[in-house]
Amino acid sequence: MNKLHRILGGATALAFIPALTYAQVQLPADHVDLGIGYDAGALELHWHVEDLGLEYAPDEAYAFVPLSSTITRPGGVAWDFTGALEGQTLFVAPGTDQTPTVLFLGVGSEEITNGTFQSDSLVFSLGGVTGPGVFSLWQTDGFGTPTAALSSVSGGPTSFSLTTGGHAHYDWGFTAPGVYELTFSVSGTLVGETLPIADTATYTFAVGTAIPEPSSFAALAGLATLALAATRRRRA
Ligand SMILES: [Zn+2]
Repeated sequence: MNKLHRILGGATALAFIPALTYAQVQLPADHVDLGIGYDAGALELHWHVEDLGLEYAPDEAYAFVPLSSTITRPGGVAWDFTGALEGQTLFVAPGTDQTPTVLFLGVGSEEITNGTFQSDSLVFSLGGVTGPGVFSLWQTDGFGTPTAALSSVSGGPTSFSLTTGGHAHYDWGFTAPGVYELTFSVSGTLVGETLPIADTATYTFAVGTAIPEPSSFAALAGLATLALAATRRRRA
């Protein structure tokens, strides 16, 4: 039973099931990390809003990329993983914190103490992608050359390694506006173990259009969920 059901209770909640999809908070256009935690033998994917010190479960919030945040896909096969043709517009949440109006999104494993996983290493991978276009993730060096990390293009990279205790930012690119559901997994093998452990979660990214306003009931439930999340997860 999910949180909305618990808050509204039984029969009342049933009437509002269609609104469940929209009971998500839009993340601030601020420093946010797709956080990787480890607790009591389990890896845990979440959202981590850095400046507010808040965490949300993956399905409690969504990332918003405004239509104004774009790059033009450069020439060269090094950019083919983006799924965009040369000269085509790519919608991007950039890996450098350029403007205060655009989400600055990283992948953070700094909550995990080194020495927990073998080689202090985790594998971050892209599973299913639904949406109107191609999703890709990359970093760009000082010469403007990209290194692809993930791509939903056929044959594109679907996983990369992370070091625990670390934190890195990437360009998050989309070839078309709309709502995307991206499923990510993280896995690693604990020191002293032989089999890896993993967590998988689906994250929502809205490019250009915010996810429709929740109904007033869903909004109230959303606020209650937020309050619970804040209470449960607020850090010292
Ligand atoms: Zn970060």
